[in-house]
Amino acid sequence: SRNNKKERARDVALISKTAANGGSKEKKTNVSKAAAAASKSVVSSAKKVLSNVRSSSIAKSCGKESKRIDDCGASKNKAKARTLSDAAKDQFREKEKATNSVASAQAPKPVISPIAPTSVVKHCLFREDSSVLTPRPSCKVHFRNTDGLLTVVGKDDIDARLRRWDPFWKCLVDLTPCYEHVKSNDSYVFNPCRTSPILRCSDRKSGELLNSVAEVTFQLPANWENKAIITSGKGKAVRWGSQPEQKYQYTDGQRRLLLRMLPLKISQPKKGYPAQADCHLWPKGTFLQINGVPVPPHLIMQRKQQSHDLSEWKGMCAPLDLTPFISNPERKNVLSLVSHEIAPYAVQICLAEYRSPETLTKMLLSTDTIHFKSDIRLYRLSYQRSIDIAKQYVNGQTVVLDDDSDDDDAVSQTFQITCPISMTALGVPVRGSRCKHMQCVDLSHFLHTNSFPSGRRWKCVICDDFVSVDELVLCGLFERMVQKHGDEARDGRDKIEFRVDGSWILKPQEKKRGVSDYGAAQSDASAVSKRKKKVEEIILCD
Ligand SMILES: [Zn+2]
Repeated sequence: SRNNKKERARDVALISKTAANGGSKEKKTNVSKAAAAASKSVVSSAKKVLSNVRSSSIAKSCGKESKRIDDCGASKNKAKARTLSDAAKDQFREKEKATNSVASAQAPKPVISPIAPTSVVKHCLFREDSSVLTPRPSCKVHFRNTDGLLTVVGKDDIDARLRRWDPFWKCLVDLTPCYEHVKSNDSYVFNPCRTSPILRCSDRKSGELLNSVAEVTFQLPANWENKAIITSGKGKAVRWGSQPEQKYQYTDGQRRLLLRMLPLKISQPKKGYPAQADCHLWPKGTFLQINGVPVPPHLIMQRKQQSHDLSEWKGMCAPLDLTPFISNPERKNVLSLVSHEIAPYAVQICLAEYRSPETLTKMLLSTDTIHFKSDIRLYRLSYQRSIDIAKQYVNGQTVVLDDDSDDDDAVSQTFQITCPISMTALGVPVRGSRCKHMQCVDLSHFLHTNSFPSGRRWKCVICDDFVSVDELVLCGLFERMVQKHGDEARDGRDKIEFRVDGSWILKPQEKKRGVSDYGAAQSDASAVSKRKKKVEEIILCD
């Protein structure tokens, strides 16, 4: 954490100097109106970043809780939708924050000399694209270099979103930092790592179709400490220029160069469209070139333009494995991208290590942080705490049940120790910290079903809310139930009656099997959907 603080302090110094440099340059030189406006926007965004960073560090040093409001959407509804488990988790986080702020007070502030970016119009050549419904000829696209820059906070946010919704890939080294150290003259320069609007296009038809462009240069950093591992050609080494044995199928510890993208701002879904998790998303109609050579369109899994309405794009997106296209990662490689999308998207190219759902399960359950170098942990709700939450839940359900039926089962609820995903006995019972139900799913099955792109990715099977890995809680009550009655559950006797006084008992075997087996889970789900709050982190896949 000390290193992080150091980096943060360096960012502050960097941004403030950039702002100052940019400002003075503006007064001295007679640049064109457009260039002045562009540099102004860079300066103002840099100032914004500075004030954000400052205020958060002040709040931290005062020992107050400072919540970062990011594009991810820390919604105001969140406070209302809190559960007991959330409160427990917050206490846990606050403890961590307190220890962090002690370390930050001792971190020295390094001095650096940044270079303010000069705004210039650049151009990029794109080959023809005949693979889509609206083919276009080859064209030259003009854009402003400074439009492709991302603030430090903006970049942090993108990285955090990718970590959160794609935990199967652990980023080892990011080849697209928003600024970089230049060793030759010991300076810092900003790097383009997002799409820019197109200023003009050499071809009229292309100009009507294309809206955004990105040109990103990437290279393995010379100072990267683990470089030997990826170039040695042994063990976990990256095999440059090689295809994975099976498309989108990776094994534990495999290292690949990944290209992932995210919209800078998450849009709310249109009515009637299903919301999708905030995973990697290609800009609509992405066309890619690496070192000037087009990536075959069939290798990019992206949304497809709909023939009945050309403004509609539907389908799944998967990150692109760049490893087969790069022969030498140590030289400068150039990624150029052009798309139909107007909204700005961030580009992340990183060397990442794959961890399978099995490994992730082990990591989440492990307390051995040295062996696994775990960056994620599963929050455990104690047995007693789980009982308290279950009592509250049963009380809450009683009110709902009394409203629309005179159920004589009102002071108890039936829980099932079978996983609703796999229909087998629960192994590690988990649910989301924001879920309003008690019913749990099996951790390993949950991770498995979310390890590949799908329309229901990261959606809770019971309440339909999005649940990320860092929001999972292990329920002590369900854990105890499974320990005691796991054998019976494997024989199909999986219903447990939980009473409002906190006692629970395995229900006798039902005569009819298979008919009303999931009745309890369904009534649980329908009660939840009645009270379901608006989904906070959603993205439209249109
Ligand atoms: Zn849920």
